[in-house]
Amino acid sequence: MDTNEARASDPVLRRLDDLLPDLTALYKDIHSHPELSMQEMRTASLAADRLRAAGYDVTTGVGKTGVVGLLRNGDGPTVMLRADMDALPIQEATGLDYASTATATDREGRTVPVSHMCGHDMHVTWLAGATKLLAETRSSWHGTLMAVFQPAEETGEGALGMIRDGLFDRFPKPDVILGQHVMVGPSGTVAGRAGAITSAADSLQIRLFGRGAHGSMPQASIDPVVMAAATVLRLQTIVSRELAAAEAAVVTVGVLQAGTKENVIPDEAIIKLNVRTFDAGVRARVLAAIERIVNAEAAASGAPRPPEITALDSYPLNVNDRDASKRVVDAFRAHFGAERVRETGPAPASEDFGSFGSEWRVPSVFWFVGGTDPDTYAKAKAANRLNELPVNHSPKFAPVLEPTLPMGVETLVVATRAWLSA
Ligand code: ZN
Ligand code: ZN
Repeated sequence: MDTNEARASDPVLRRLDDLLPDLTALYKDIHSHPELSMQEMRTASLAADRLRAAGYDVTTGVGKTGVVGLLRNGDGPTVMLRADMDALPIQEATGLDYASTATATDREGRTVPVSHMCGHDMHVTWLAGATKLLAETRSSWHGTLMAVFQPAEETGEGALGMIRDGLFDRFPKPDVILGQHVMVGPSGTVAGRAGAITSAADSLQIRLFGRGAHGSMPQASIDPVVMAAATVLRLQTIVSRELAAAEAAVVTVGVLQAGTKENVIPDEAIIKLNVRTFDAGVRARVLAAIERIVNAEAAASGAPRPPEITALDSYPLNVNDRDASKRVVDAFRAHFGAERVRETGPAPASEDFGSFGSEWRVPSVFWFVGGTDPDTYAKAKAANRLNELPVNHSPKFAPVLEPTLPMGVETLVVATRAWLSA
């Protein structure tokens, strides 16, 4: 059965086609009015208005701009659906007629371009569509639907911000938490897996202390440039020499800064690095190895004091519950047909969605909805050029609206009904 047939014969989803013009307008509106993390006032109010109009009890300002909508519809399970709302400080280069030209003031007071280059505008639209359809057809299911529009995914603060603002005390504990992300992949398909779906991410800043001197008198210095260079090289041995072949991690040094002039040995050097892992034990070992190497390299140089290691942002490992994933994937296969449901490996991307399930001790499932034109994807695949397709955070990331937009509404409704059935 193709997607349109599956939709037409479904009592909830057959209303989706009528909803599409409105959802497309909502998507383009949010796309051309993107907001930075923790500044999502306009997007949050659009989401809240839609929930209220559909009959949900709405709470705003949860974790600053977060919105929670509750639809209590008799006895039955509680399902939480989550969409993130924030955009990125990137100049959009998609050339679309609804492309963003917006700017905003970031936390450092700089004026920056803003655009939805991670597709969170699609996530908001999907959740607005699914919550409306499920509300309109509430005679066909029982239970409680909890819609969560979350701020600041891109800075890793939003989920924890909502949790610290009492999410777990103020709202009913769900039986399952569901979320989805638009990604490179043929539009009209959905991809998932049981177990780790996105990586844990940890960013660290390391300040290495030396002793500055004239460049002509190295004997008077403790050179932090050499200390930093040795540290960066030695850090490469964590993944290559300390992990087993079947274990996976990424350690990337993205910032290496020291000095201002060629004949001056500086006092200190800064390294900033990012770690991606898919297993809690591997994560702990990699972080411990970084600390050990950084301290040992400083000691080897005779540093006047130990390095200062500061945690920057951190994202949890996002693990799909095995039973809940199977329930979602079985529902997808039954609805879309097996050929539209792909198995994916764990993505080295990170997501704070995992915090809701791990902190609340509720099973959660996260999956990817393809956003690439299927012909473009097939051609790139045949030419072994999939890596050249614009990915999330690229200034050219532009999901095709048809069928990505209806597909994501459909996946949310199908997965939700795997719990909230009659
Ligand atoms: Zn992103
Ligand atoms: Zn994202």
